Amino acid sequence: MDTYNRLPISITRGKGCWVWDQEGKRYLDAVAGIATCTLGHSDNAVRRSLIKQLNQIQHVSNLYQIPEQEALAHWLVNHSCADKVFFCNSGAEANEAAIKLARKYAHKKRKIDRPVILTATSSFHGRTLATVSATGQPRYHKGFEPIVEGFEFFNYNDFPSFETLLEQVDINGPRVAAVLIETVQGEGGIHIGSEMFFQRLKERCLKEKVLLIFDEVQTGMGRTGNWWGYEHLGIEPDAFTIAKGLGGGHAIGALMVKQHADVFEAGDHASTFGGNPFACKAGITVATEIERRNLLMEVNHRGSQLKEGLIALMKLFPKQIKEVRGLGLMQGLVLKENTKLTAQLFVKAALDQKLLVVAAGPRVIRMVPPLVIKRNEVRDLLKRLEVTFRNYE
Ligand SMILES: *Cc1c(COP(=O)(O)O)cnc(C)c1O
Repeated sequence: MDTYNRLPISITRGKGCWVWDQEGKRYLDAVAGIATCTLGHSDNAVRRSLIKQLNQIQHVSNLYQIPEQEALAHWLVNHSCADKVFFCNSGAEANEAAIKLARKYAHKKRKIDRPVILTATSSFHGRTLATVSATGQPRYHKGFEPIVEGFEFFNYNDFPSFETLLEQVDINGPRVAAVLIETVQGEGGIHIGSEMFFQRLKERCLKEKVLLIFDEVQTGMGRTGNWWGYEHLGIEPDAFTIAKGLGGGHAIGALMVKQHADVFEAGDHASTFGGNPFACKAGITVATEIERRNLLMEVNHRGSQLKEGLIALMKLFPKQIKEVRGLGLMQGLVLKENTKLTAQLFVKAALDQKLLVVAAGPRVIRMVPPLVIKRNEVRDLLKRLEVTFRNYE
């Protein structure tokens, strides 16, 4: 179906931060399957462990114990604030699980009949009916009304807006069950969560017994230079969701919860493919390789190098570039409103320079390269961006 506006290249091969199209042309990949190919393409460790897994067993179903799933769950629990994990196959599914958990928590623990979940404007939580309804951007709702009820929106990083909404929804008694929010907004345009805002949010949620749930689908697994985006904010959520970077390019998602927020019982939620041996083996390999290669430190170094280079570009092209925003290897170049250049035009123009970048909204060029990107490759990326801008002067 015509659900995607595809670019006119077919990618057939990849290695590290590089991909080749059908004609053999080589591109520097700062998209990485939209922040999923954490260790780059065709990584040796991932290849080896997945080939081994394919030879052993691929899928069994959650009717049985799954050692690979248990191993990944242990790793995740040992490296985060969560105590329990539910596995699924994507970011939207992880958020669906979080939404169901929040509603059940409200019914069971707080006797709320019609729970409401508060989410932020310019957020992105997925494309299923509930997660698209949770997404605070009207353009994603258009044509799919009626959207799922029980979601209300406040302005991101705006505490008075949050408080006003909370009080409005709770006016005739408590209804707010949870807040679902990204620690850095990805698709919505790379907006970094403010520490002050999140700390006040946490305080207020504690006071009201409202669950604080972070959507770390894009920020999780080292993307920002910490394992989880919330580490930059000095607070912990009651639950959080991950997906994109977890499988290194393979389909897997997870809902992570603290013990006190875990209200799911047997039969409450399920996924046929969720937590299958193959996907979980990919997750364990990605996690242990990030540790073994000390990649979080690399993400911080390469992230700073990229950010400094982008700021230098902004000085070179002040008419086109308005701002540089990002954390670690999740960086955005914000274009000025009064230029003809849009993010989508730039993405197309960058193809001529054999560079892959992705838009985050109409005005933001997003760079989310593999976490294994090297110093000279960041330099190369900046050079290709510069040439692309030069052609637009
Ligand atoms: C990509 C993304 C999703 C949706 O993930 P899918 O795997 O496409 O369903 C949800 N939340 C955030 C923050 C994302 O970046």
